[in-house]
Amino acid sequence: MTLGGVSRLALVGSRSFATSQVLSMHSYCFTRPIITRQASYCTHSMDDKYFFCGCCCCGICRDFIFEGDCLNYELIEFKCAAGHSECLMSMEVKSSITDKLRSSGLLRTQGLIGGKWTDAYDGKTLEVHNPATGEVLADVSCMGQKETNDAISSAYDTFISWSKVTAAERSKCLRKWYDLLMAHKEELGQLITLEQGKPLKEAIGEVSYGASFVEFFAEEAKRVYGDIIPATLPDRRLFVLRQPVGVVGAITPWNFPLAMITRKVGPALACGCTVVIKPSELTPLTALAAAELSLQAGIPPGAVNVIMGNAPAIGDALLASPQVRKITFTGSTAVGKKLMAGAAATVKKVSLELGGNAPCIIFNDADLDVAVKGTLAAKFRNSGQTCVCANRVLVQEGIYEKFANALSKAVQNLKVGEGFTEGAIQGPLINKAALEKVETFVQEAVSKGAKVLLGGKRHSLGMTFYEPTVIGDVKSDMLLSREEVFGPVAPLLRFKTEEEAIHMANDTNAGLAAYIFTTNVQRTWRVSEALEYGLVGVNEGLISTEVAPFGGVKQSGLGREGSKYGMDEYLEFSSYEICMLGGYEQKLTVEVRRQSLPRWTCNSKIAGREKASVLSFAFDVNVEVSCKPCRQLLRSCVSE
Ligand code: NAP
Repeated sequence: MTLGGVSRLALVGSRSFATSQVLSMHSYCFTRPIITRQASYCTHSMDDKYFFCGCCCCGICRDFIFEGDCLNYELIEFKCAAGHSECLMSMEVKSSITDKLRSSGLLRTQGLIGGKWTDAYDGKTLEVHNPATGEVLADVSCMGQKETNDAISSAYDTFISWSKVTAAERSKCLRKWYDLLMAHKEELGQLITLEQGKPLKEAIGEVSYGASFVEFFAEEAKRVYGDIIPATLPDRRLFVLRQPVGVVGAITPWNFPLAMITRKVGPALACGCTVVIKPSELTPLTALAAAELSLQAGIPPGAVNVIMGNAPAIGDALLASPQVRKITFTGSTAVGKKLMAGAAATVKKVSLELGGNAPCIIFNDADLDVAVKGTLAAKFRNSGQTCVCANRVLVQEGIYEKFANALSKAVQNLKVGEGFTEGAIQGPLINKAALEKVETFVQEAVSKGAKVLLGGKRHSLGMTFYEPTVIGDVKSDMLLSREEVFGPVAPLLRFKTEEEAIHMANDTNAGLAAYIFTTNVQRTWRVSEALEYGLVGVNEGLISTEVAPFGGVKQSGLGREGSKYGMDEYLEFSSYEICMLGGYEQKLTVEVRRQSLPRWTCNSKIAGREKASVLSFAFDVNVEVSCKPCRQLLRSCVSE
């Protein structure tokens, strides 16, 4: 352990610490409640007397030892001499993460244009915050129209070469990118937790999920098959090639800072397209790190560009450019509609993954444990901030009370905390606006007669933390039923019959995901086929995978991501009709003797040529004849 000179040490209990460290611990502890990892890392109770500013001591030995290089903000561990307990201080952990990320080259703050890390041309920056603490994590370039146009030009130039690289080569590059994403799973997960807030375990899960699209599409790159169509004329051949659409503009939201990017960029690159990515200004750091790894993987400079900053200016530049042939967007329905309208001016291909309003239907015959577990997963993942989150829990009256109690009990156990807190399942909401939206929806429901069964208010942790909430007696006309709450609130609505449940479920403009819980096989098929949704989970709350098509119907979007169908979004069909001049028969070589050459006149179109070549014989010769009548005639004088 290196702690520097003695003058910099302070004595705490029986241990020495650097003065600077003690001071930083003090200020940290005085400004925020201590909710760091030590609570769950210490297996024994902590004694207040020995609990000093984020450090802890063993409840048995009342002693701790100190490991790590605190002066450099490396990981700090406190362990009692007997090894009874250990704790980590999250402030140091965080400092260590950002330092490590910076030194590994993964904490990028500039945009990426043509393979070069680039500042905004006017030098503007925007702050990226940790939603759990409000802390500024980085200042990133705040770009606009000019930078976007340059990124488009670089993507266009690179498209010319990248689209001609063999599928096998593209596949190798993508595979390498996948390997790097997985090799840096921890760091990328930490970045996601820092800028988006989701618990570290869930964030690392997102990295694996996001990387799986790159791996899947690395394989699909080799399977961009064309087609051969039976021709309508005998001397014709018809075939179809599938070709990359061109430069792609990919606009992504904050709730999955990595996966929403790889789900688009993976198939685009696999098909031979190049991309200009616009991540959310709230979570650009993960996108930039992923782009850095794409360069390290050998994906050519210019194939992946990242621009962030002024969203409407960037969006308008992507829409206006005739070089951008495709817009792929994930985000709110309102912005999706704007982009779709804007894409009309240059007739671009568009795919949209928009908002949902997922019903989660619990029938009387559901297995209660399965239904509770599935609803928890479908509702509370990412603190309720996913497009496929169960937005309305429709519960049949026969099981309503039992289910409401069991769900409330399960939700009560969801530990809320900053993403690095050991055991945290629920992180903060993304920002104040999101928090206020959840509050408004809950208040409106309560004012109209709904009952708070659990939670229903801001969490004592402050910032944007909201208590995991269950609300009973919600009605179809309340905001909680009509719009996406995008927060940790499960609204329960009662229904009597299967028909009523189907009607309630379909009574929305959204059509992304739906869930049903039942043990009746006939009902499973009947209801899932009657639901107007792009994705249906039966007795399952987690339904997204790279091998199945993901996407919505109605106003939840257009097109599909993931699976072999995800490739179609980045390909055009080009059809070719080949006319084989002179008929479809193969030329035959026949041996002709001059003296046996008969006189004949050929009337077929190319006969002149054949005749000329035959008539010019000066000696015995092999001759190729493609005119059918001429060949038949010549056959008659072929020497034996
Ligand atoms: P959002 O406000 O629509 O933003 C999405 C992206 O669009 C962000 O990068 C945003 O940039 C950008 N943007 C905003 N206005 C724009 C404009 N005029 N032109 C071009 N780009 C513009 O959505 P969000 O709040 O980030 O995400 C939540 C929504 O996404 C929810 O409705 C959720 O259901 C939906 N979602 C859908 C899926 C799906 O697969 N269907 C998946 C995830 C999320 P800035 O952030 O920089 O402003």
